[in-house]
Formats: sequence, C-alpha cells, structure tokens
Amino acid sequence: MISTTDETLLRRAIDIATRAIELGDAPYGSLLAGPDGTILVEAHNTVRRDDDITAHPELKLARWAARELDADTAARTTMYTSCQPCGMCTGGIDRSGLGRVVYALSTAQLVDLNPGSARPGVPQDGPALFEVARLPIEEYHRPPAPRRD
Ligand SMILES: [Zn+2]
Repeated sequence: MISTTDETLLRRAIDIATRAIELGDAPYGSLLAGPDGTILVEAHNTVRRDDDITAHPELKLARWAARELDADTAARTTMYTSCQPCGMCTGGIDRSGLGRVVYALSTAQLVDLNPGSARPGVPQDGPALFEVARLPIEEYHRPPAPRRD
C-alpha cells in the first residue's frame, strides 16, 4: 500500500528523473530513504555518460547500501524509484537487503511509453557438467578440517 509519505518521496524520485534529462542523461531517478522518511542518498541513470550498462540508479543505491549500511539498517530502508527496477537492479536490491521498493511506472507502462526499453533476453542453456561444476562450490563451502596438533 502506498502512503502519502510514499507519494511525496516518489515525486522526488520523478523530479530526479526529470533533472537527469537536463544533465543529458536518461530519465530515471531513485532515492533511498530511512525508516523516518529521511533521504539517505539519491541517484539517476548515467548509462550514457559513464558508458556503463550497469549505471542504473537503483543498482547504484543498492551497491551504496551494501557498502555503507549494516544489515539491520538496510532492512529498514525504502527505495523510491521512478520506474520499476529491471532484472539486473532487482538482483542487486535483493542482495543488498533493502526493506522495500516503491516505484511509479511499472515495466509494462514504461514499455508502452517507450517500446525501445523492452529487452528480449538472452537465451541461456544449462544446467550442465554438474559433477565438475560442483567441485569448487563444495571446496569453498567445506567446513575446515579439524586441527591435528
Ligand atoms: Zn535497472
């Protein structure tokens, strides 16, 4: 459920997206807010400027949270973003342990407005070679052998 406070912070994320256009960047903006609604950090899309396909604002904020916040604090934050996070950003958000995401435009709405933003996806084949591929995983996660002093 979207509260009045959520709407205020969402409008701020949309303002960030609008400002991005003025800076020559793509129109996507996000912010991360603490439990009391205080804005902790803001970002906009800099894919073109940085020549970096990962420079989405949601992923920048997820990375910032993973670096700068402890897990309990991260879990009490909310990300507000002008568009629904893409698959790449969703993965980063999940790994960063943020508490919640609130977005304005859904992916379907974005694609309706800009069909060029649809991503067809790359075919993936697998699983394969389980008996070989499991070895580094098992080695890494194996408990240490007892010391023989
Ligand atoms: Zn993204």
